[in-house]
Amino acid sequence: MMSASLATVSYIGATILFILSLGGLSHPESSRRGNLYGMIGMTIAVLATVFGPRVTMAGLPWIIGAMAVGGAVGLYAARKVQMTQMPELVALMHSLVGLAAALVGFANYIDPVAAHGLSGAEKAIHEIEIYIGILIGAVTFSGSIIAFGKLSGKIGGKPLLLPARHWLNLLGLLVVIVFGYQFLHAESIGTGMIGLTVMTVIALLFGIHMVMAIGGADMPVVVSMLNSYSGWAAAATGFMLNNDLLIVTGALVGSSGAILSYIMCRAMNRNFISVIAGGFGTGGGTPAKAGDAQPAGEVSPISAVETAELLREAKNVIIVPGYGMAVAQAQHTVYEITQLLREKGVNVRFGIHPVAGRMPGHMNVLLAEAKVPYDIVMEMDELNADFPDTDVSMVIGANDIVNPAAQEDPGSPIAGMPVLEVWKARTSIVMKRSMASGYAGVDNPLFYKENNRMLFGDAKKMLEEVFVALKA
Ligand code: NDP
Repeated sequence: MMSASLATVSYIGATILFILSLGGLSHPESSRRGNLYGMIGMTIAVLATVFGPRVTMAGLPWIIGAMAVGGAVGLYAARKVQMTQMPELVALMHSLVGLAAALVGFANYIDPVAAHGLSGAEKAIHEIEIYIGILIGAVTFSGSIIAFGKLSGKIGGKPLLLPARHWLNLLGLLVVIVFGYQFLHAESIGTGMIGLTVMTVIALLFGIHMVMAIGGADMPVVVSMLNSYSGWAAAATGFMLNNDLLIVTGALVGSSGAILSYIMCRAMNRNFISVIAGGFGTGGGTPAKAGDAQPAGEVSPISAVETAELLREAKNVIIVPGYGMAVAQAQHTVYEITQLLREKGVNVRFGIHPVAGRMPGHMNVLLAEAKVPYDIVMEMDELNADFPDTDVSMVIGANDIVNPAAQEDPGSPIAGMPVLEVWKARTSIVMKRSMASGYAGVDNPLFYKENNRMLFGDAKKMLEEVFVALKA
């Protein structure tokens, strides 16, 4: 078994590696290294904890057994999960962090050793840690489960807007404060458990209500916000268990998640408070109605051969990938076409919307996997002004992120969200299987524009046909 000082040194080493890891993850080129730092840091952290001074010999087999079971489940899930299911998996993992924090809180309260000898202010602080830890854990747990349901399509994307929902939340908060007072002044563990249980039930209901009220297009913010919550839940667990590394790691995840949520809100022109308060983004928007996804005009279909011709004659092409490219796993074919066009002297660039796909950075990951050079992958703001000078904009399985209604229709549920202005190109081609709407469930007027063509079919299959036609 490790000495206390060696364990502390290991914790400091792991902390440094985690910070380096976050730094590395900030750019696609250094992200592999960032992941590696994270893995080494986590291995050191786990070893220093399991073989550290606070684990007895008798407890070791239990821990190793639990790690074997948990590790096997994690390994199985990670190997089996499709890239497009990644956000759901992440949401599910966040829920586990929340559940762990809540369970540790209850165990800590009941455990006579944890509170042994504490009195006065120390006892009060210990109990406040428990109360807040369980609160954050329970909200994270139920909120993440709902997010999992929404992302996987098991629960509809429409926001659930209960009447007087803000008052309900406020009432919940008041009850939590009142029972918190009761909990801190409880005479015995038995009476304390009443306050703790009531608060937990309210926190669980609040988590469900919070995420249910959030509309489809605002889900990216919720995903990163729950990521942040899971960090704070881990930090709270660290306080309860007196584990410095858990506090630091939790705070790192919590604050980076909060920063990401803020960046995403800014990128989507959403007000953070109104996203959290629920509904569908900013004040002007209205929730998507069933009718919003109904066809509203004539569309002009195009064939793969005609698409190839347009591309061959073009000087400037912008490709806008979306969730459908991930579903079809079309990124490799997209890059083959890109290479071919570049060899012919066509200027091909990719336009990446901050919320394309189903998780932050989704498109960047896929394009990096296909080895698309980073210097032709641009963010929305970098090339949105270039569409009028573009011959062909090719939309591959994207929908909401290229919806002109966001700019043209103030009543649209996605009004105000910045979009890639593909319709300003000479010709835009939208590649998707049907006229179905995207994640936000709203109809897309782009499809009916005069200069727009629809290439119907699975993105990968259609792109392969385009590739063959281009080579011919
Ligand atoms: P959308 O969900 O708006 O549209 C994707 C389109 O891809 C669909 O309309 C679908 O049409 C098409 N598609 C699906 N499968 C295929 C296939 N095999 N081949 C060709 N096309 C296919 O995706 P976007 O990327 O445009 O927008 C992302 C949306 O997801 C936004 O609303 C965003 O807010 C939300 N979101 C984003 C998150 C993030 O962090 N990035 C997280 C959670 C939600 P069809 O069925 O006709 O083929």
